[in-house]
Amino acid sequence: MPNFDPRLALSYAHRSAPWAGLRYSRETTQMRAVRNDAPEKNETALEEGVMCEVLIDGHFGYAATADLSSMGLQRAFDQAIATTRSASRHKAYAFTQAQREAVQGSYQSLCQTRLAVTPLALITKCLQAASKSMGIDSKIVNRSAHAMVVQTQIDYYSTNGSHTTQSFDLVDIALTATAAEGMQSQSRSWSQTGQHGGEVFDEAVFTQQGLRVATEALALLAAPNCPSASMDLILMPDQMMLQIHESIGHPLELDRILGDERNFAGWSFVQPGDFGSLRYGSTLMNVSFDPGKANSFASYAFDDAGSPARRELLIEGGMLKRGLGSVESQVRSGLPGVANFRASSWNRAPIDRMANVNLEPGTETLEDMIASVDEGILMATNRSWSIDDYRNKFQFGCEWGRLIKQGKLAGVVRNPNYRGTTVDFWNRLSAVGRDQATYGTPYCGKGEPSQVIRVGHASPPCLFRGVQVFGGQS
Ligand SMILES: [Zn+2]
Repeated sequence: MPNFDPRLALSYAHRSAPWAGLRYSRETTQMRAVRNDAPEKNETALEEGVMCEVLIDGHFGYAATADLSSMGLQRAFDQAIATTRSASRHKAYAFTQAQREAVQGSYQSLCQTRLAVTPLALITKCLQAASKSMGIDSKIVNRSAHAMVVQTQIDYYSTNGSHTTQSFDLVDIALTATAAEGMQSQSRSWSQTGQHGGEVFDEAVFTQQGLRVATEALALLAAPNCPSASMDLILMPDQMMLQIHESIGHPLELDRILGDERNFAGWSFVQPGDFGSLRYGSTLMNVSFDPGKANSFASYAFDDAGSPARRELLIEGGMLKRGLGSVESQVRSGLPGVANFRASSWNRAPIDRMANVNLEPGTETLEDMIASVDEGILMATNRSWSIDDYRNKFQFGCEWGRLIKQGKLAGVVRNPNYRGTTVDFWNRLSAVGRDQATYGTPYCGKGEPSQVIRVGHASPPCLFRGVQVFGGQS
């Protein structure tokens, strides 16, 4: 709960604005890092503030403040009212209070041990265990282990009776081992990113994953370069997350399709008329927006316009059905969307963000998929990405490559990459695994001023036929 009376501030704003909202946010971030067994980072940051929002003459406007006194909140509302009144003369669309539904409810992210009672010493101990376990060979030249734990509280109030309160325990862990010899170097990493508590800080897991990434970094160092050819490609979930993020999530954001983001983040190859008619991928492709996915990084019950968040299918049987657009983008475009109006911080206005976008599981085991490939490659863990402003033509690189010959896994290859164009690529999807794994990132960038926000992506391994694969420089 905030340490002020939000209703007092709202009633002050309501004298001048037909509708007003207030979003209070408090976030504590703790970062710890260990490199080559030495503690390298031990930081704590606290951010706390309020975003004041008003609707005047059909236009929504904002002002943010970290001054949570009554005078501070009144000043912020005065500023929001003045700028909104002035900007409303140039509004893109005449909104109404219907775009701010009255809602009440609460959300608390799932975990076994809340981060508030998780000792930071335990986190450091796990990171040190991981760093030590990577030290298996003198060719391992860098052993890094990083953890960020975040506790967030977001409370939302409005003059039409909304009151929601949401709290999140968030964890982002990354281990990386780099092996080097001569001019060649190769890295292998492991990550765990989601809504978790202290239960994920298990020394045995950190030790085991540290040993695995170091062993695989050495294997990559000794491996030949990835061949260049058209072949079948199996992508593991930790690369599928990036494939989904860049070639489904971003192009389906309705604000991009409306052109709002073209100066900075870019546009989209998807046109408004494509919803309901574009065959985005093969019939095996089912993609959901799922804010209720357990432990996923961007799960929530209400977005920052107070819209109740529900699971929706964006692509069903390969057909494009629904965009990633908030209540505002939905009325502007006349297209169906989702509850994804999100701000990265108390001092940012919400925009359309993808949140959790998942590829729904199919029926195949990974072994079945490998057995069905005559000449192909399995790739895991994103290393690099490049995609054009329209989210159409892309090339992605992975850390780990494993050739597949006559239905069996064969040798490891380094620097595996693949390229394609979005709709053609997804139409090559010919098998979807049954076992989904969930990944996420805190670093999805968009908006002016810039907003870096959390997203989650769950996916099974997937098989794509006839993809352009190529090797590269290390
Ligand atoms: Zn992004």
